[in-house]
Amino acid sequence: MLIKMENENPKVGYIKLQLESNCTNTETNILQEYWEIVDGKFAIKDTNILLEKYNYTRGELTKLTKSKSKLLVFVFCKNCNSYELKEVCSRTEYQECLRTYEYIHYTRQEKICDYCQTIKQEERRKRQEAENKHKKIEEEKRKKLQEIEDRRKKEEERTRLNKAIEDKKWQLLSDFEKDVLCRCLQANFHDVRRFFVQKRGQKSDVFINAIRELELLDLITIRRDYEGNIRGHNFLPKLKEFKDEIETSIVVIKEQQNKIERNSTNSLKFKLTINDISNNPYRPKFAGVITFKEEIVLHPNIEYTFGAWERENENLYLTLIPTEDLERIPTQNKVSNKPEHIQKIILDNFNNLGKNIFEDNF
Ligand SMILES: [Zn+2]
Repeated sequence: MLIKMENENPKVGYIKLQLESNCTNTETNILQEYWEIVDGKFAIKDTNILLEKYNYTRGELTKLTKSKSKLLVFVFCKNCNSYELKEVCSRTEYQECLRTYEYIHYTRQEKICDYCQTIKQEERRKRQEAENKHKKIEEEKRKKLQEIEDRRKKEEERTRLNKAIEDKKWQLLSDFEKDVLCRCLQANFHDVRRFFVQKRGQKSDVFINAIRELELLDLITIRRDYEGNIRGHNFLPKLKEFKDEIETSIVVIKEQQNKIERNSTNSLKFKLTINDISNNPYRPKFAGVITFKEEIVLHPNIEYTFGAWERENENLYLTLIPTEDLERIPTQNKVSNKPEHIQKIILDNFNNLGKNIFEDNF
């Protein structure tokens, strides 16, 4: 059953009330009174009047309106110039329907129907999609350019590093820097630093300066984190072929390394045995033969400290040790000329050495 409703709301095309055919007379009366609109407003404003009049509970009235009536509201859409049907089952829904309209009107937007809404949403979605696609293309373009730039930089770096090897730039390094470079060719940055700073006791800034020098000369490249701390280093594998050449060009450090690695081969220790064949004063007092079990290298321009201990049967035990091995001291020729505290160090070392001699099998 369709009932044409009075409508004075200019925004709403027209309103029809639809009732289920199985309504009783009472139900039809209630529903007609419930939905009656006069001058754009509900004729019975307070629905409690209806509840009292028909002895209905609120729940029963709600159930009745929802199950047996529908207000068909035809709202005009200016966008497609046609009416859109809205079905409402309660006064709240009806008011909601108009309020939405008024709100949209208030904000000067044209109310549009669901169909137009869908079309507009689809347009928005397509626009967004096109924008995203454009962004993606731009991003890919940017990435490609970045890759080309990175490759160019890498190539440029490679050229510089190659040139440094060709020019044998390590020749410009100090012995210490050469030593750092050689270590850099064998271990990662962390281990190289640990070797020089922790094991050798080198000052950290001295070590870092050496690393920077290697970078400046294009012998290595350095990886830094965002704070500028060194995280690692790289070099051309080809540089390794020159490691021996670089190493052999190191003078002092190489010797120090030898001392550590080859176990004091640069010190001389042996027993001077009495020449017991003859007592002739023109014959040497000590004479004998000796075979050394390892190579003993004595370097020029390095100070050695010597000592001779009297042993049984007037034999002597002679030692010749680089002074640096005892302690770093200035160049002088007699133990007694050394400052007193240095003398003590040397004598203490001699004492220890002397003790060890007694334990040797000479
Ligand atoms: Zn429309």
